[in-house]
Amino acid sequence: MRPFTYTAARTVDEALGHPATYLAGGTTLVDLMKLEVLTPEHVVDITALPLRGVRADARGLTIGAMERMSDVAGHDLVAGPYPLLAEALRQSASPQIRNMATIGGNLLQRTRCGYFRDPLTPCNKREPGSGCPAVQGHNRGHAILGTSEACVATHASDLAVALTALDAGLTLRGAGGTRTVRLADFYRLPGGTPHLENGLRPGELVTAVTVPALPWARRSAYVKVRDRQSYEFALVSAAVAVNVTGGVIRAARVAAGGVGTRPWRLPSVERELEGRPMNQATFEAAVRHAADGARPLAHNRFKAALLRRTIVRALVRLAG
Ligand code: FAD
Repeated sequence: MRPFTYTAARTVDEALGHPATYLAGGTTLVDLMKLEVLTPEHVVDITALPLRGVRADARGLTIGAMERMSDVAGHDLVAGPYPLLAEALRQSASPQIRNMATIGGNLLQRTRCGYFRDPLTPCNKREPGSGCPAVQGHNRGHAILGTSEACVATHASDLAVALTALDAGLTLRGAGGTRTVRLADFYRLPGGTPHLENGLRPGELVTAVTVPALPWARRSAYVKVRDRQSYEFALVSAAVAVNVTGGVIRAARVAAGGVGTRPWRLPSVERELEGRPMNQATFEAAVRHAADGARPLAHNRFKAALLRRTIVRALVRLAG
């Protein structure tokens, strides 16, 4: 690990005063610093900042960025009204990590692409212009949607997928003030600049996550398919919510993980579900084009079919 300076901020203003890398739970940052994938000169510890609390009102849910993943997963205002959020969190990482890791850190974690995490190999995300060995290399876990010649890494956060289905937003605070941004607009496609992953400006802090009120999100689920049942990132995941009356789907939300270079909303599947009966035939017809536009690599062709099946599985659960 390279030497760095460490400051513990006591207030948000104090944190914003430093051009530095923020340290929250440290479960990603410290890992990447040990690997020398990230080599910040200044680290500002934000664990003491009062960015806590889970609140709900008529407009929706607000979650402080420094809330721990485990606390949010078990919170009454989350688990009952938004089961897909609680399920996405509970299926992330391990209990020990969830006890340390924060909501803000989870949404800003870096990809788990093995080439990104190995400073001895080229990686356009880590070192712009150096190349992407994953395109021709070990790419079983990589993305099939939103990829470019420069990068095929998936976005790693499960929570971000569930939040994308719910049209969530982020509150960001920087030296210039506070602003809000939709999560769907926050994450960037890699294109030719995969090192630019999101819309966070230098020195900006995520202070909260906001979820617009959606009473029918009570009928929602997060299904995650992975190589082992715990402590593993998604091969494919699906976050699904449906509003059903009289056996007919009035509205639907569908987003996928493990397939895209960012959390992947599927409006075409949502449209195919809406106005149709809540049954298996509807589900199977609706997912037919879920992977349209996919660009599979040598070892991840299975993901297109797995994506369709994972969404159907989530919908079948909600039908039951
Ligand atoms: P940190 O490591 O402290 O920070 C992460 C990044 O976010 C840093 O760049 C930091 O500067 C920045 N940051 C943090 N907070 C803020 C803020 N408020 N404002 C601006 N920038 C900020 N995740 C999943 O979703 N699903 C999984 O299945 C999963 N499995 C895992 C398995 C293992 C073995 C490990 C180590 C991690 C796994 N994770 C998984 C990732 C884990 O959830 C993240 O490491 C964790 O959520 C990061 O949160 P943190 O508070 O520790 O962030």
